[in-house]
Amino acid sequence: MAEPDCIFCTIAAGEIPATVVAEDDRTVAFMDINPATRGHVVVIPRAHSVDIGDVVPEDLGAVAATAQRVAARAKDVLDAAGVNLLNSSGAAAGQTVFHFHVHVIPRYEDDPLALPWVPEAADMEDIKAVGEELRA
Ligand code: 5GP
Ligand code: ZN
Repeated sequence: MAEPDCIFCTIAAGEIPATVVAEDDRTVAFMDINPATRGHVVVIPRAHSVDIGDVVPEDLGAVAATAQRVAARAKDVLDAAGVNLLNSSGAAAGQTVFHFHVHVIPRYEDDPLALPWVPEAADMEDIKAVGEELRA
């Protein structure tokens, strides 16, 4: 079920650190290390699948439900004015990690973000602090 060279399988197994904000038996949601906006979260199924063509419907539904929960938290706790949910499937679509995932990107009034975003590292302490706020 887990792919040995997959970074998101490694995160799901708790083998490398991530700032987890929500999890259940099928999914894990954690802070993106190159956030497009404050509070950018990635939601994954625990079971490895590559992309939208490969993920089983039960995991797709579970990821959607977790993304919905995280989006609600972003609005409630971070005062996000809106939220983008984004999946990139295939290199041509900009996918860089080949374990299916949905980005939950909080949006703020007048934020300058243009999608797709250019990934940029941010301060890890800031990312962790926002993750603490988002964790239900
Ligand atoms: P994609 O480009 O495949 O749609 O999204 C992959 C996302 O995973 C990127 O936004 C990238 O910043 C994030 N990412 C890549 N490696 C790691 C990691 O080791 N930890 C965390 N938390 N995020 C990662
Ligand atoms: Zn994987």
